Amino acid sequence: MAKVAFLGLGVMGFPMAGHLAAKGHEVAVYNRTASKADAWTSKHKGRAATTPREAATGAEFVMACVGNDDDLAQVCTGPDGAFSGMAKGAVFVDHTTVSAQITRKLAVEAAALGLHFVDAPVSGGQAGAENGQLSIMCGGAPEDYARAEPVMAAYARICRLIGDSGAGQLAKMMNQICIAGLMQGLSEALAFGQKAGLDGEKVVEVISQGAAGSWQMVNRHKTMLADKFDFGFAVDWMRKDLGICLETADQIGARLPVTALVDQFYKDVQLMGGGRNDTSSLIRRLK
Ligand code: NAP
Repeated sequence: MAKVAFLGLGVMGFPMAGHLAAKGHEVAVYNRTASKADAWTSKHKGRAATTPREAATGAEFVMACVGNDDDLAQVCTGPDGAFSGMAKGAVFVDHTTVSAQITRKLAVEAAALGLHFVDAPVSGGQAGAENGQLSIMCGGAPEDYARAEPVMAAYARICRLIGDSGAGQLAKMMNQICIAGLMQGLSEALAFGQKAGLDGEKVVEVISQGAAGSWQMVNRHKTMLADKFDFGFAVDWMRKDLGICLETADQIGARLPVTALVDQFYKDVQLMGGGRNDTSSLIRRLK
């Protein structure tokens, strides 16, 4: 069992840190809003720290799941950041969805301090975090990944090293590109069916078992038809992720025409007040 720190107890981090404690790891948690760390320690075995540095002191592994590039930089290298508390040889595992640039920059800064850095963004949403069934795509040195993988196993359904530093984040971008186009297609089909007067659930029972089937169709059609959009991954976060995808595409010369359009559709949902709606709320624009 390892000494592990977990930074960021949001929708994802709270249950992920809980799985580490349940597996018997010695866990120290940090959350910017202290009440969430208190809620975590009242539910799980472990201690709460008041800064990332304090949580990271003495840890062999420091996991993080915060918001965006700036947030990650803050908990790593900001005042009382984790890097200043970590012992040489310790591994930082980042589960936040961020750009490949900030990942590579922090990995270089970590190496200069004798620390190791693995980018490990996740897919599977709130349910995946709660059930310990996340898909984790990683970037970094194979020996660092090999050390971190048994710890991540506490909340992974599948965990793979994709390539060098930043490769995990690039893989996560592919994941988000797939979801963007798929969500718009599913939204159009369900809204079309409603206008045509069909029983959407009856149709989905049939077509989900054919070539049109998808995780989103199976898990979200009922709530989309019922105009309920409070199921995990928020539109605000999706726009952050699509922004990273579009910027990266510009840098590498890739083309993302549909992703760019769907990003604007998500902007419409934000303007309708749906920033904290889940990503299936694209259908709201069509009703
Ligand atoms: P969330 O519920 O909003 O939680 C974000 C966490 O990060 C909170 O604990 C927050 O602290 C902390 N945080 C944010 N900025 C910080 C800063 N500058 N310094 C210290 N702590 C900071 O978000 P989430 O849904 O768990 O998502 C976290 C990350 O995972 C995001 O990058 C997201 O894109 C990614 N992700 C989410 C999902 C999903 O389904 N939710 C799925 C895959 C990936 P406070 O409590 O103080 O606000």
